[in-house]
Amino acid sequence: MKLGIVGLPNVGKSTLFNSLTKAGAESANYPFCTIDPNVGVVAVPDERIDKLTALYNSKKTIPAVIEFVDIAGLVKGASKGEGLGNQFLANIREVDAIVHVVRCFEDTNVIHVDGSIDPIRDIETINYELIFSDVEILERRIAKTTRGARNDKALAKELDFQQRMKAFLEEGNLAIKYETEDEDELAWLAEYNLLTYKPVIFAANVSEDDLADDGNSNPHVEAVRKFAAENGSEVFVISAEIEQEISELDDDEKQMFLEDLGISESGLDKLIKASYSLLGLISYLTSGEDETRAWTIKKGTKAPQAAGKIHTDFERGFICAEVVAYKDLIECGSLAKAKEKGLVGLQGKDYVVQDGDVITFRFNV
Ligand code: GDP
Repeated sequence: MKLGIVGLPNVGKSTLFNSLTKAGAESANYPFCTIDPNVGVVAVPDERIDKLTALYNSKKTIPAVIEFVDIAGLVKGASKGEGLGNQFLANIREVDAIVHVVRCFEDTNVIHVDGSIDPIRDIETINYELIFSDVEILERRIAKTTRGARNDKALAKELDFQQRMKAFLEEGNLAIKYETEDEDELAWLAEYNLLTYKPVIFAANVSEDDLADDGNSNPHVEAVRKFAAENGSEVFVISAEIEQEISELDDDEKQMFLEDLGISESGLDKLIKASYSLLGLISYLTSGEDETRAWTIKKGTKAPQAAGKIHTDFERGFICAEVVAYKDLIECGSLAKAKEKGLVGLQGKDYVVQDGDVITFRFNV
């Protein structure tokens, strides 16, 4: 899973990205971890894997991870190919969701590219670039579809949809606001990979003073919340500067620092969790002497496909899954006790894996 961090220059993206990567997962554990300085692999905070590690005396603990990509350089005119603009837009096309950082902090030392603090104007500047880029994508598709549509009913329907979608975007709408239950249209939307069809989380970057009341007394934050509610997005309040400080502390110091600030959880932890749920993701867990590990799956994934995350052989040769809920396992204190109480089930190929299931797969090789 990949999230792209976007926003105008000087809103705090790099500060946020740096604190994310500093607090990030140990890269040695992740062979897919690239050396690209703009990509950070971040562990999903999950106390369950720590408890299971203790219970099983596991040698290793491996959390679920999310990749964050710092997409700097998205500026006014990007979609017209000025500078490297188009490259940045192409980077956004590859992510599953967008974290849009907006500046809600006042600080005369930090210049705003448009001269004043106005998060809604900033959001609209970025959205305009994304919409414009999507219109271009549709124009290219329309040109292609038009050639085939004359003798083909299905293509004619798609062409009509493409033209309506283009008009919809040109009115200043995001693709995600398009309402339809038509299965063809939904499939096309999924296929086109439009930038404005991706889920968005707004990170309202505030000053330290605004953290304790979650930005409630900051009118800029209020404006972002209103905008997000109208556009089906989530908002969370963060201070990139404070996150940077937090990322340099060890766990005990971090807890004390958070208490001093009057908050229970760091903004980054909130962001990572929010991204996880925004994308409809859950974790199941495996635990043993060698390692305890969290595995990321989409909500609704069935047991064989969940097993396939570990190894394709597990999916192909799937026989059954021995499943116990995390809570039951911890309450019982051991798998044997949980079995005695009848809390461990053998599940077949139609079983829908739940968040926090602790699973042992049985499979043919
Ligand atoms: P980017 O261009 O969006 O990546 O922005 P940066 O992360 O480079 O931040 C731009 C400037 O704003 C830097 O000087 C940061 O130190 C400063 N900055 C970032 N976040 C905050 C914040 O929460 N409060 C204040 N006062 N300054 C911040």
